[in-house]
Amino acid sequence: MKNKYIKSNSRRNFVKNISLGAFGIALTSGSVACYNQSDRSKRKLGIALIGLGYYSTDLLAPALLETKETYLAGIVTGSPEKEKIWAEKYNIPEKNIYNYENFDSIKNNEDIDIVYIVLPNSLHKEYTVRAAEAGKHVLCEKPMALNTQECRDMIEVCNKNNVKLSIGYRMHFEPNTQEIIRMGQEKVFGEVRQVTGGAGFTMPDSLYDNWRLSKAMGGGAMMDMGVYPLNAARYITGLEPVSVSAQQFATRSEVFHEVDEITTFQLEFPNGIIANLITSFHANYGYIRATSEKGWFGLEPFQAYGGIKGNSSQGPIAYPQINQQAAQMDEVAVCIRENKPMRVPGEEGLLDMIVVDGIRESWARNGEKVMLERSL
Ligand code: NAD
Repeated sequence: MKNKYIKSNSRRNFVKNISLGAFGIALTSGSVACYNQSDRSKRKLGIALIGLGYYSTDLLAPALLETKETYLAGIVTGSPEKEKIWAEKYNIPEKNIYNYENFDSIKNNEDIDIVYIVLPNSLHKEYTVRAAEAGKHVLCEKPMALNTQECRDMIEVCNKNNVKLSIGYRMHFEPNTQEIIRMGQEKVFGEVRQVTGGAGFTMPDSLYDNWRLSKAMGGGAMMDMGVYPLNAARYITGLEPVSVSAQQFATRSEVFHEVDEITTFQLEFPNGIIANLITSFHANYGYIRATSEKGWFGLEPFQAYGGIKGNSSQGPIAYPQINQQAAQMDEVAVCIRENKPMRVPGEEGLLDMIVVDGIRESWARNGEKVMLERSL
């Protein structure tokens, strides 16, 4: 099945995008440089971050100081101390600060156009539903939700409320990643035959109480880091896998008794393409490599926040580094303003989750191959 959700970039468009800014959509459709704050169709769109943990604090809020199409308009937090700190640091008016109880009243707030859900995975669905029902567009972190049913419900509620939904797969906005997508999908070295890759980090004992070790909260290496190589195998091939086999290993079984510490998984794609992938909370790594009929290409690191670089049988892959989060949020804002399809719509998160559900089934069946049936 052809993956219709990934846009392949031609080199010409790519170079144009790079030379004009981090992304192309706004730039191909007229000037967006000047905003009149009173004109809603032209002003910067307001984002409210919900969940002010690591990713919001260290990556998203700083990125929102660099964005041109959107800005940090509000926050949703359960912590009164954070309210104060964030309000001061980011100049957020009190009327744009919510907690989890009064969140639904955000529907009356015209400053907030987009709710960015940066909560533990088990809360993604609930807050997508609440944001959509409040009439707000939704950016939701990866992995999209706990399972395929939740993903489908999220897509449905956004459609019903006529709001857009995008998933936080930031690598789709990154230039070196866009180049390997092009190399794979445009068959620069002929048909892709094989993809190998992995993403993992060493979970320190100081984080043993983190929600990432809770099954109910959607933890585990596969959910947290495994979706990166899974997503990469799909974006490099531009295809959807027909089967998956998966094996789990634990070196600290007393700690990882609810969720996987290490998962290896193999995907069979149409046309005889095989992907052999690994993820873990056991070691630090991040690489992706594809072997095609007449050459190879890959990135290492491939999903870090910066320093993405790679090589190919044609030579180095070394496009400029960008702020991935800023590029992602700016493009999402432009797609909303101009009513264009998202680069990473909810369906992209669902397609990964179909494979993750298959991985769980394969684990339960001792690594047996599971055929993947999908309909969006
Ligand atoms: P975190 O644990 O640092 O932050 C989670 C936040 O949710 C905290 O502020 C916490 O107070 C809040 N929260 C609200 N209700 C909670 C509850 N019931 N239990 C626990 N916390 C609760 O997590 P994080 O690393 O910021 O990850 C948040 C989301 O962002 C996850 O979905 C994760 O996969 C995703 N993420 C994405 C990237 C990326 O590169 N795209 C990077 C890191 C995290």
